[in-house]
Amino acid sequence: MAHAGERLALHVKPVDIMSPQAEPLVLGQDDIITVEREQWPESSISLQLSQHCHFINGPVFARLADRYSQKSLLDELAIATAPWELVQQETQSAALHQRYGGRVLLKRRTGGYDGKGQHWLKQPEKTDIPADWRDEAIAEQAINFDEEVSLVGARTQDGRCVFYPLTLNLHQDGILMASVAPLARLESLQTKAQAMLSCIMNELNYVGVMAMECFKIGDDLLVNELAPRVHNSGHWTQSACHISQFEMHLRAIAGLPMPEPKVNYPAVMINLIGVEKDNNWLSLSNGELFWYDKAVRPGRKVGHLNLSAQDEVELSQSLKLLSLWLPEQYQAPLEWAAKASR
Ligand code: ATP
Ligand code: MG
Ligand code: MG
Repeated sequence: MAHAGERLALHVKPVDIMSPQAEPLVLGQDDIITVEREQWPESSISLQLSQHCHFINGPVFARLADRYSQKSLLDELAIATAPWELVQQETQSAALHQRYGGRVLLKRRTGGYDGKGQHWLKQPEKTDIPADWRDEAIAEQAINFDEEVSLVGARTQDGRCVFYPLTLNLHQDGILMASVAPLARLESLQTKAQAMLSCIMNELNYVGVMAMECFKIGDDLLVNELAPRVHNSGHWTQSACHISQFEMHLRAIAGLPMPEPKVNYPAVMINLIGVEKDNNWLSLSNGELFWYDKAVRPGRKVGHLNLSAQDEVELSQSLKLLSLWLPEQYQAPLEWAAKASR
């Protein structure tokens, strides 16, 4: 976001709202406060920020940060989502299996990401509902989807929406491994997806970038979840679009012009998860590395690579090289990316 801000001469200053610092922040009347986290817990800094006259999307947290109210919102708007219910004190797993089938996915109401905070109930194994998940989780039907797609869009202060083309995503163990966009075969779903996300952003009076993750079943879309921020499945726009999702978000909250984003070339995004930085990646003729400089831990997203998919031969060469440089769990996603972008 800071990089995107530089181009617009907007100074982006990250703030850790949970930092124990006692001093209040120095804020100007012209400053704009945007939030890139799921929860908005109370702290002296978060209170100060949320009282600022340009605190954007304040009322959104209460509705989206909790899966219970997020799924309720989708139901209220009659937007298709995986069938679900709240896991209550008296909820029996047998009853959940009766309603939703042999595999039921419990998801913590708050705090889950990258597939953490999920618990599968499997009928043959008679898996129990963990005691401390009652009232704290929802139960969802397992969806036998064909593919996963997401839509990244942005809404202006006066209610106009712009969108990127649908992105095809591959998750492994609940974590995003790779994305491909745009794809001609997804074009027929674009209008439907845009109508769904416009409806959601309008209802929330939302300003900025929001992502809608979906399961694709034939020509139908079921919303999996919403993310009120720039999204990992939109990282390809950093390299391939004339306005990236990061710049689009800044333009929206700053009230700057927001033309429809143009796609300069198709792209593949590969997430770098729990791997050490490898300078071989920098030798890819069509690659751009984004390294977050975070401590490397298993399962942690530490960077991503955007590859141009304009030249099929070049793309397939790069994916082959990456298969040599990345560990075993990448082999299937790299093959998937090669096949999907053909
Ligand atoms: P994120 O990092 O995207 O925020 P998250 O931990 O919030 O992830 P979800 O997006 O709800 O969790 O689920 C992660 C992945 O788990 C999905 O992308 C999908 O692959 C799988 N999944 C989630 N819900 C279901 C479901 N009802 N049926 C089948 N698979 C599912
Ligand atoms: Mg999530
Ligand atoms: Mg998700």
